[in-house]
Amino acid sequence: MSRPVYMLSGMDELWEALERCPHALIFAGGTDALPRLRRNLIDPPALICLERIAELRPLEERDGGLFIGAGVTHETLLRDRRIAQRWPALHQALRVLGSPHIRHMGTIGGNIVTASPAGDTLPPLYIYDTEVEIRSPQGSRRAPIREWIIGPGKTALKAGEVLTGVWASPLDDEFNLQYYEKVGQRNALAISVVSLAAALKIGESGVIEDARLAWGSVGPTVVRSKDIEDSLLGRPLRHDTMVRAAEMACDTVKPISDVRASADYRRRVAGALLYRLPEVWGSTRPDYGVGSTAGARC
Ligand SMILES: Cc1cc2nc3c(=O)[nH]c(=O)nc-3n(C[C@H](O)[C@H](O)[C@H](O)COP(=O)(O)OP(=O)(O)OC[C@H]3O[C@@H](n4cnc5c(N)ncnc54)[C@H](O)[C@@H]3O)c2cc1C
Repeated sequence: MSRPVYMLSGMDELWEALERCPHALIFAGGTDALPRLRRNLIDPPALICLERIAELRPLEERDGGLFIGAGVTHETLLRDRRIAQRWPALHQALRVLGSPHIRHMGTIGGNIVTASPAGDTLPPLYIYDTEVEIRSPQGSRRAPIREWIIGPGKTALKAGEVLTGVWASPLDDEFNLQYYEKVGQRNALAISVVSLAAALKIGESGVIEDARLAWGSVGPTVVRSKDIEDSLLGRPLRHDTMVRAAEMACDTVKPISDVRASADYRRRVAGALLYRLPEVWGSTRPDYGVGSTAGARC
């Protein structure tokens, strides 16, 4: 079936197009939406392309944080020095997201609205407590990303609204270990089987003073657990500290089995990724001992 495709260049045109055709499919890079269309998984009456709307592409300092327009591509973010320096876990996630082609086409807004449990930008966006900005002709509102993503493929986006961007504030400098790792079925172009974003404050003596942890692909949405984060506080960043946290992670995450991995494998990897944190910290400090390397019971 041939359907109209609206290539828009401004927000006013977008509101008009959405009023004319409220069930149209909007897309930005199209790397998620267009394959679904080609496989006949969806049958929208029209397509609305956001790619040329400049108001969706700012990447600028505002109100003490960084505003990342929904239409900013992964490649643009990857090349931005501020992201590399102040949001290193997000930078690391962008490096392993898709292929160069996907990073050139795909946008942060598309990654968020897709709300896949395997979306690479999501665990970092959770540990940085980012907020999404949503707009409709009636005005705009902001919401913490953790509340706005409500399930696999589900957000609180209402009919007639679009995601305009993300507000990100950097963590304070004392979060001296910020890290992202994904385990996929292969090294390149792999959708994550399990991923972990972490930000830790490690004191002079190697004791963990604050912790934020967010797992991807092990539940309907990104998993953060205050209990696991609190269990690390006041303890040295060593392998043996992580064993208890890994056991808690195995019990907390609720993965499913699918073509990429079994639930049991995902549970074990979710715990095992925590062992990387003392290793990463130790790799930059040659005299730092990571402790015994016995594994968790899960
Ligand atoms: C081969 C391949 C490899 C991939 N690898 C990865 C990977 O490693 N990691 C990963 O996380 N993802 C991966 N993806 C998925 C995809 O590329 C990303 O999720 C990408 O960020 C989607 O962005 P997009 O702009 O292309 O989204 P689109 O396809 O344009 O849109 C996706 C969804 O978001 C909605 N949408 C887009 N923008 C807005 C907006 N501003 N407001 C409201 N709704 C909006 C659309 O309606 C649609 O439902 C891969 C995809 C392919 C095809």
